[in-house]
Amino acid sequence: MGEALDPCVHCGFCLPACPTYLVTGDEGHSPRGRIVLMRALERGEMSPGDPALLEHLDACLGCRGCEPACPSGVDYGRGLEAARTQIFDARGLPPAAALVLGVFRHRWAWRPLFALARAFRATRIPHLLSGGGRLGFGLGMLASSSEQRDTGTAGQRVSGADGQPQQNEMGTTSTVPLTTVALFRGCVMNALFSHVHEATRRTLTVNGYRVVEVRGQVCCGALHEHAGAMEAARSLAETNVAALQDEADFIVVNSAGCGALLKNYGHLLGSAAGAKMAAKVRDVSELLADRGPRLGAPIGIEVAYDAPCHLQHAQRVHAAPLAVLGAVPGLRLHVLPGSDRCCGSAGIYSVLRPRMARAVLENKIASLAAAQPRPDVVATGNPGCLMQIGAGLRAAGLPIGVAHPVELLDLSYDEAGFYEKKSVNGER
Ligand code: SF4
Ligand code: SF4
Repeated sequence: MGEALDPCVHCGFCLPACPTYLVTGDEGHSPRGRIVLMRALERGEMSPGDPALLEHLDACLGCRGCEPACPSGVDYGRGLEAARTQIFDARGLPPAAALVLGVFRHRWAWRPLFALARAFRATRIPHLLSGGGRLGFGLGMLASSSEQRDTGTAGQRVSGADGQPQQNEMGTTSTVPLTTVALFRGCVMNALFSHVHEATRRTLTVNGYRVVEVRGQVCCGALHEHAGAMEAARSLAETNVAALQDEADFIVVNSAGCGALLKNYGHLLGSAAGAKMAAKVRDVSELLADRGPRLGAPIGIEVAYDAPCHLQHAQRVHAAPLAVLGAVPGLRLHVLPGSDRCCGSAGIYSVLRPRMARAVLENKIASLAAAQPRPDVVATGNPGCLMQIGAGLRAAGLPIGVAHPVELLDLSYDEAGFYEKKSVNGER
């Protein structure tokens, strides 16, 4: 912890980048205040059960928005990981967190629960009853996990001048070598966002990748790692490494939170196998951007891009998602003011600390309400962000959809007729 936090000179430049400080104005809810507490914990001046320590560290989103704002190079994320591990080792988890993380540790536990959630979502009751209260917001989160084609955006597609797809300077699938990519399925993505997995497979295939399925994968372990439950996180990581490390040239991830931890498996496991697998991990936007990506047919919509914290701050991927959206002709792209700040989702944070999560979200919803022209869709590449922002928009009564960037590229490719012509994966 010391090495990561030692460079802090208490200048306070990070405070305006911290969502919880902006909401509360409380120094204890700022990066600088938390660093003071974490150092006191490390030196033994505070016990791991100290209520002030727990209150302020539990309220940290782990978004790492403070890191790029810091001129001294403080590695806040690594310091937080060490502090939470020390706290977990001393006191375990609060009951609610233990229950949720216990479910995500075992496929036999989360699969039936998510199957029920999917069945309930299919009734469209969550869409009808979503709202601003705690129950209505939860229903809004589930409704916002629906496929983009169901949100009405598809009805706003417009034809190009000649209705034909356009070529970009990066060439077509016939001019690039075939690269094999293993799809990381994860838990929430697989259970509620399988449509994003399908869009990922189709768009990568159009861009010259061969996408393969690998059995034996489990949850990435990010939720456990964020909570300091390192033994559970390592156990899940070792299962994934055994399943995936030798299977393809790259491992593609379309969830920013999962991708950030998968790229960190070398550090988490301290093993050559973990580092070898981590070196192969790419966000889907990185692989697509490497190939251009190929342009699709026009879709005339206003899109606000919001960068997931674990893509922007943890993985340092900035331009690739914009390149994906830029491959949709007619799509008018705007980067949302405050895009670099967390939406309040932060893994299971929004479940465990709903009031703070909602307060953090309000700034983003206010940005969207004020945006001119009004976006049709918010694009963001992380399931938690899609659900949190989508629920916030529903609660505010704003008629704005949410979509993963690859969903929009997929719609564009579909409109271009790529799938009918090429019978991608034999699905269409
Ligand atoms: S973390 Fe960085 S920006 Fe924040 S107070 Fe410390 S040195 Fe300053
Ligand atoms: S990780 Fe996010 S919430 Fe935590 S101190 Fe840094 S900016 Fe604030």
